[in-house]
Amino acid sequence: MVDNVPAHQRMHHFDAAQTHLILDYVTERLSMDETPLDFPGDKGVIDSVLNGLVTAEGIPTERALGIYDDDVSKTVLSADSPRFWAFIPNAPTKASLLFDMIVSAASLQGISWLEAAGAVAAENQVLRWISDAAGLPSTSGGVFVSGGSAANLSALTVARDIGRRRLIEKYGPEARLSRLRIAVSEQVHSSIKNTLSILDIDPLIVHPADHRLLGSDLADVLAADSDPESVVGVVATSGTTNAGIVDDLAGISAVAKQYGLWFHVDGAYGGAGLFAPSVRAQYSGIENADSFIVDPHKWLFAPFDCAALVYRDPALAKSVHTQKAGYLDAIHHDDGSYEWNPTDYAYHLTRRARGLPLWFSLIVNGTDAYTEAIEHGIALTREVASEIEQRANLELIREPTLSVVLFRRIGWTSADYDAWAHDLLVRQVAFVTSTTWEGEVVGRFAFAHPATTFAMVVEALDALDVDSAG
Ligand SMILES: *Cc1c(COP(=O)(O)O)cnc(C)c1O
Repeated sequence: MVDNVPAHQRMHHFDAAQTHLILDYVTERLSMDETPLDFPGDKGVIDSVLNGLVTAEGIPTERALGIYDDDVSKTVLSADSPRFWAFIPNAPTKASLLFDMIVSAASLQGISWLEAAGAVAAENQVLRWISDAAGLPSTSGGVFVSGGSAANLSALTVARDIGRRRLIEKYGPEARLSRLRIAVSEQVHSSIKNTLSILDIDPLIVHPADHRLLGSDLADVLAADSDPESVVGVVATSGTTNAGIVDDLAGISAVAKQYGLWFHVDGAYGGAGLFAPSVRAQYSGIENADSFIVDPHKWLFAPFDCAALVYRDPALAKSVHTQKAGYLDAIHHDDGSYEWNPTDYAYHLTRRARGLPLWFSLIVNGTDAYTEAIEHGIALTREVASEIEQRANLELIREPTLSVVLFRRIGWTSADYDAWAHDLLVRQVAFVTSTTWEGEVVGRFAFAHPATTFAMVVEALDALDVDSAG
């Protein structure tokens, strides 16, 4: 028995009872057709539950798991519930969730080819599937990072350094000090603004007439600019988070080419639409991207935390991100043997092989299942949009393009939307949050889960009929 083993050794010994408790919990969770939405937590209650749990001797697994199940988990809104329509939902497949446990149980890291060849090759197989869908060349490649924010930061670091190198080649070493800029639409994701601030790059903000960035908007701004050479890149969004708008990628890429700009496409949310034939044409021009990102933890049915980052010319990224240290020499060869070190393509070093849950699910379920699941979200969104148009008290704010829909409840203020959302959550009908559109608070749904039904949404829309939720 494990009992007479000292504690510091016991924690690395197999404990059958502990293992069964955890696996039974996981089995029960995975067996749910619909995970419960649950509720926001109260700090005082949570603090009192957690108080004193960190002890010198530890507490029994059963008690710890009970606390997690009864108290902790109930205050975590289930992003994988088919009734979670706020922000961007998460809808991991069962196979991806199960394989995520293997990634943990086997401590699968994915730093270098030397340490993790098979895992790296399997992750790269998924990156190839994504790159092919975007029409990027077969020499493109990249890495899975923790999220869209990390992916955008890593990609734009490369954009900055490559742009700066070019200016130094042209103007000499003094160009090292010149301010650099990257063009972005006012609709760009908040993580891009953060990235530019971290990288100390000024945004060149473009204001498209109808929120969708066009090539002509970028061309006009650059033509009117006194120092266009300081602009080293442009960010286009393939599916804005707030409204699902896909920028004019073809037009923007043409202008980027003319000015020699790094063309980055942020598809963290909407990149999944590449796999949906009904909307694929909107992504025309993405094949010209220098870097492209998509978050499988959003609309490609992978668990948190997973973002795919692909570069047209990975050698450029490698030249920027490779970490050099004596103890790391062993992972780099100069002998021409195959080398693909995922760590070289983003700002990190140690990394979990977080692309593998998607890889496993993709090969088990097949790509058609992915296409159909994404198309479900698009079709549902269109159905909901036409339902909104038919209701006298509602107005559709714009025709949805992907799986986000914005609408107005005539006569409502921010407090009314809040009260409506609160009531839906109390009744566990849905988790929704309002957003701001052109300065006005409006209703918003974002769909990703294939188990979300039109009837569920109708229930939420019916609750908009009451005169004032407040
Ligand atoms: C969600 C999102 C991001 C940020 O991704 P995280 O995974 O949350 O870091 C960036 N850009 C867009 C368009 C997004 O929708």
